[in-house]
Amino acid sequence: MAILVLGGAGYIGSHTVYELIDAGRDVVVADNLQTGFRAAVHPKARFYQLDIRDKGALDTLFQAEDIEGVIHFAASSQVGESMSDPLKYYDNNLHGTMVLLKSMVEHGVDKIVFSSTAATYGEPERVPILETDRTQPTNCYGETKLSMEHMMSWVSRAHGLKYVALRYFNACGAHPSGAIGEAHDPETHLIPIILQVPNGQREAVSVFGDDYPTADGTCIRDYIHVTDLAQAHILALDYLLKGGENNVFNLGNGVGFSVKEVIDVAREVTGHPIPAVISPRRAGDPAQLIASSQKAIDVLGWQPRYNDLNTIIATAWAWHRSHPHGFEEG
Ligand code: UDP
Repeated sequence: MAILVLGGAGYIGSHTVYELIDAGRDVVVADNLQTGFRAAVHPKARFYQLDIRDKGALDTLFQAEDIEGVIHFAASSQVGESMSDPLKYYDNNLHGTMVLLKSMVEHGVDKIVFSSTAATYGEPERVPILETDRTQPTNCYGETKLSMEHMMSWVSRAHGLKYVALRYFNACGAHPSGAIGEAHDPETHLIPIILQVPNGQREAVSVFGDDYPTADGTCIRDYIHVTDLAQAHILALDYLLKGGENNVFNLGNGVGFSVKEVIDVAREVTGHPIPAVISPRRAGDPAQLIASSQKAIDVLGWQPRYNDLNTIIATAWAWHRSHPHGFEEG
């Protein structure tokens, strides 16, 4: 039986496919290639180009393949864009997941692990954040992800579907082999943007706000390596396949770095001065997000291996330096 990875040509999806195949699993990938790249899909995975809002295409896939579980990454994921174009997020993330669940229920596929986000919490009541803490998103991206969690829960009650929601903190880094890495167009994430400076593609990095209530005034985030996230998906799917109940897990390192600290580490790793310019705040950004991942460690047996930011940024730098245009030919 195979595992279906939706959004398996994207950043976290493609890394999860590599880990699944390394673990000897049979993998089917589906992706509409709107933000993902065909070249990011592991050559041993069977590939379907489809949009999850296309129920006919999903039905055909579920008829053709013997799927034991789904890992669902197919969603829009930019905080800033979700504030300027919220309906895109309702359409792709909520409507897309609704069509997917309909097709899964009809085909008797009843296990799903999916990408949720730290953005479901909004401005946290305290850090590190526990899964039981208040969820009150401050941006539309987080709102749609929280609604996806709720949708799964209601479908579970009605149809017996079992799900695990993984609330990622800040995914970063690249596959240690250098075969795949992060590539978004346009790029919005902090670490790849910083690395565009030593790569000669940008003069300086903008720091979005230095008047937050943090030690140096810049936002604090919990950066977690993409390979560690990938491993958590496999553990979560195996947990469901062994009969585990619906669950929600935070995935982070439990350590926060400010935007200024991240830039300092990147200066150290690359040996480049990386000029930084203080700019206005970005809409929807909470001041501080740091995970408690104790539950994933205890229940799933998750063991993040990349717990220092220098190593994480070094893997990202190795990828960006050798692929300055991502998966596109230079
Ligand atoms: N950020 C920044 N300059 C940039 C991109 C991001 O200062 O060019 C900040 C952003 O405001 C946030 C942090 O870096 O506080 C991480 O942002 P990113 O978009 O990487 O991830 P997010 O936290 O939104 O998931």
